[in-house]
Amino acid sequence: MIVQAPDDQARANAPLVPLTEPPPVPVATPWLDRLRHAAIILLAGGIALATLAAFGEITPRAAGVVFACLVAAALVPWRLHTIANPREESYGISPVETPVVRAIVAGMPDPAVLLDRAGRVLHLNAAAAQLAPALRVRELAQFALRNPEIVTALREAIATAEPRSVRYLDHAPIERWMELIIAPVQVPTAFGGTDQCMLMTFHDLTPLRRAEEMRADFVANASHELRTPLAALSGFIDTLLGPARDDAKARARFLGIMQVQATRMARLIDDLLSLSRVELTAHVRPESQIDLMPLIKQVADGLEPLAGERQVSIELELPDSPAMIAGDREELLRVFENLIENALKYGASGGRVVVSVTAVPTSDGGSEYRVAVRDFGPGIAPEHLPRLTERFYRVDVGDSRSQGGTGLGLSLVKHIVNRHRGRLMIESVLKKGATFTVCFPPVKS
Ligand code: ADP
Repeated sequence: MIVQAPDDQARANAPLVPLTEPPPVPVATPWLDRLRHAAIILLAGGIALATLAAFGEITPRAAGVVFACLVAAALVPWRLHTIANPREESYGISPVETPVVRAIVAGMPDPAVLLDRAGRVLHLNAAAAQLAPALRVRELAQFALRNPEIVTALREAIATAEPRSVRYLDHAPIERWMELIIAPVQVPTAFGGTDQCMLMTFHDLTPLRRAEEMRADFVANASHELRTPLAALSGFIDTLLGPARDDAKARARFLGIMQVQATRMARLIDDLLSLSRVELTAHVRPESQIDLMPLIKQVADGLEPLAGERQVSIELELPDSPAMIAGDREELLRVFENLIENALKYGASGGRVVVSVTAVPTSDGGSEYRVAVRDFGPGIAPEHLPRLTERFYRVDVGDSRSQGGTGLGLSLVKHIVNRHRGRLMIESVLKKGATFTVCFPPVKS
């Protein structure tokens, strides 16, 4: 099974709703009705006048003048009439239903709905129609937004004409945390002046909450990891000051354990600092030109003592030509150190670790360098693969701790590889070993 290492940050920012074509916003066509009414009035008036003129009751000239007045009465005064009665109750249309206001609401990036002072929908944009498909222009928003928290906030905002905000958990189409802000706004009307309306905007808080949860988890995990060796150290200090004060044999043994714990703490702090450094520079791509070959040889040589201790042979399959990439030497050393050390620690039972470098053509016609670290140990069960690069994630916490692991190594690898615009792939078959491959784009010539 191959798993592409996920990016925590990208996952936190990922869009939560499938990006489908938004449904059209329902709009009204009142002008057509009015035109029809005017036509009927004119037709009836025209027939009546023609009949009167035909029977000689009025002169054709007088009939013409009356008909002209009728035309003026039927067509001209829609607007005048509305000025006299500006409330929508008279005509079922609000004076703020202007193209400009509609365009502003439509252009808002978040779901937005403009309500009149009674809570009826005047305008809504496509994002709002997608979020709440039941919303209809000129209908009460409360009917469409059935969430009790929203309805209460809406009622309060309408009653007090004051802003309200509410956070709620939306369940459809997927679970996400939303914030609704209802703000009173004075909207310019078509006839001058302003009208009091309510603007509802919805904001998806899920990425923020996820980031916050990740931060809280991270702090909790880091404190726990630091507290464990610290507790061991203070326990042994107490023992050495107390019961084992004069026991030379116990003292030597305890000091050995304390040294291991202190080293573990130092390593943890080192990894945490490296991680935060890499995160700080994540957006800056390294520029130095680095040949991967000598780096890999240097790391393999440095890990020979550990390989000897674990009775594992490190086999290098490197091409003769250099493999140049744009990189940061220290960070790349950390990547290869972590991967080869993990293979030696967790895959020791296989007896061999193979490190190979190949240039592989890519789909865009270019090529990339792939550094694969393969071991023949117990492998990793498929359900763990997608989570291996999460901070502090370990398949077996006890095993990792006994090997001096911090659970941060692969997370660091992933961040460094991302900074180098590369990829990390993890393949494993249970009982047959694991292969960790990092891919880097070659340096542009
Ligand atoms: P650690 O400090 O625990 O080694 P890493 O982030 O480097 O942390 O690795 C996370 C976990 O992934 C390890 O605890 C181990 O369970 C698993 N792992 C890493 N490399 C291998 C491997 N080559 N074979 C089997 N398991 C591995």
